[in-house]
Amino acid sequence: MNEETTKIPQATAKRLPLYYRFLKNLHASGKQRVSSAELSEAVKVDSATIRRDFSYFGALGKKGYGYNVNYLLTFFRKTLDQDELSKVALIGVGNLGTAFLHYNFLKNNNTKIEMAFDVDKEKVGKEICGIRIYDMDELEERLKQEDITVAILTVPASAAQTITDRIKKTNVKGILNFTPARLNVPPSIRVHHIDLAVELQSLIYFLKNYPNDDTEN
Ligand code: ATP
Repeated sequence: MNEETTKIPQATAKRLPLYYRFLKNLHASGKQRVSSAELSEAVKVDSATIRRDFSYFGALGKKGYGYNVNYLLTFFRKTLDQDELSKVALIGVGNLGTAFLHYNFLKNNNTKIEMAFDVDKEKVGKEICGIRIYDMDELEERLKQEDITVAILTVPASAAQTITDRIKKTNVKGILNFTPARLNVPPSIRVHHIDLAVELQSLIYFLKNYPNDDTEN
């Protein structure tokens, strides 16, 4: 995100890619305007939150007209720096890592996994969907050489911190951590943590304990 967006609250910033994806689809289907109610239904965020979020973008919806799709798209494109391709590396080509290599991130984001790493010699040297798997011995050198700025961690939890300590010596600014390990990083690196097991457990807990609650998480 660029400097203009530093005033946007983090919770709003996190919803930006969601709005962006939906608006791109709307635009592709030829729609020129959208109401906060329509947006709310599509992205499952309540319309009051949407109106507040959009006011940060300088987008003021008009009653009976809604929001101008083109204006919003231009704003999001600029804000999310979508013109700049973020280079991503994946570390740990197990079941989850392999699924990510198969997933086409370019469909919805201007993001692409450039390379992968693993310790398993059986996997090193192979390619999955055109993405080469390198030996962990080459980690720092290759990350620096290709100016990789984002790392996806799909290794066992026990390996996560050691790998993070190695990543610190590269240009990586963000880690998407799919391991249950809590990582220690310097302030220059941002970690987003996605623990699928915890998310699943949390969903099941909510289903059991709040079966009729329709508010989001
Ligand atoms: P699989 O069935 O292929 O073992 P998994 O997801 O069940 O997959 P995990 O034990 O979670 O297996 O390991 C994920 C991947 O991380 C594996 O490919 C493994 O070889 C790799 N890996 C393990 N330790 C490291 C490490 N220190 N550095 C990099 N990759 C590692």
